Amino acid sequence: MNSIDLKSRAKINLSIDVLGKRDDGYHIVDMIMQTIDLYDNLKITKIDGDFIKIKSNSKDIPLNQNNIVYKAADILKKRFNIKDGVEIYIQKNIPVAAGMAGGSSNAAAVLVGLNKVWNLGLSESQLKEIGLQLGADVPFCITGGSALAQGIGEELTNIHGLSENVNILVCKPDIFVSTKEVYQSLDMNKVQKRPKNKKLIESLKNDDIKYVCENMVNVLEEVTASKYKEIKQIESVMMKNKALGSMMSGSGPTVFGLFDNKEYAIKAKEELLINYNQVYLVNSSNKGVEIYG
Ligand code: ATP
Repeated sequence: MNSIDLKSRAKINLSIDVLGKRDDGYHIVDMIMQTIDLYDNLKITKIDGDFIKIKSNSKDIPLNQNNIVYKAADILKKRFNIKDGVEIYIQKNIPVAAGMAGGSSNAAAVLVGLNKVWNLGLSESQLKEIGLQLGADVPFCITGGSALAQGIGEELTNIHGLSENVNILVCKPDIFVSTKEVYQSLDMNKVQKRPKNKKLIESLKNDDIKYVCENMVNVLEEVTASKYKEIKQIESVMMKNKALGSMMSGSGPTVFGLFDNKEYAIKAKEELLINYNQVYLVNSSNKGVEIYG
């Protein structure tokens, strides 16, 4: 196999609770992850020479060793003593530094892709183990779908997720939010409201989207929204246009709205596009990394 094409999907969080901090600095979370059908396309091609080359249509990501995709390829290359070179082209569609795990899902795709290209024969759980060394969200991104993520995000329990009929409108304002800073600024003793994940999971199982929307909580939202007025502004456009609920994803700054009526979602999208460039209307997906072509 000389080349492989992959889809690398984004996620949103339907809830995030932060329970504590480990000695190594990682936070202990309890959160609901949902893959959405917004994806980057990656092409991995074997090349002559013993190196890893990254190309992309995006000016917002590094094309050197700092790209998480480079790190993913390098881990496999070193561990399995691979002497072949690869070029990885990243067609970016997922907003960068958005709270949608764009980089993590690219890394997940490269692990899955190189496992095939280099014939490594690694199982899904072995790929997840390697993925965890690259980032806490990488194991989830490999399988995708819907999951309760615990531990530092790597302890995954599959759950019944959002129905594919739900219209998901995501809007990434043009501001830069550092995930590290958001977590560091969170004062766990001052959290006003925490999600009840067991009840949310039960409601997802019953397709009770109204309950989910009325009870979604992301404890990181207070931190990011206190610094950037855009978070609440976007939510208010979503709600004014009859979203069933709206919340920030990850550490932000992306905000999503859930609509049972597509016409309302389209109206909200048009209104958001007046002030924001990155607005996408998508559905949920039960797939993570996908090999195609
Ligand atoms: P998460 O939700 O996992 O916190 P995110 O969506 O907030 O992720 P990313 O899009 O993964 O954030 O980007 C975070 C940082 O990583 C950016 O500053 C970006 O420059 C860098 N980065 C490195 N490689 C990539 C990549 N392949 N895709 C996106 N960002 C990358």
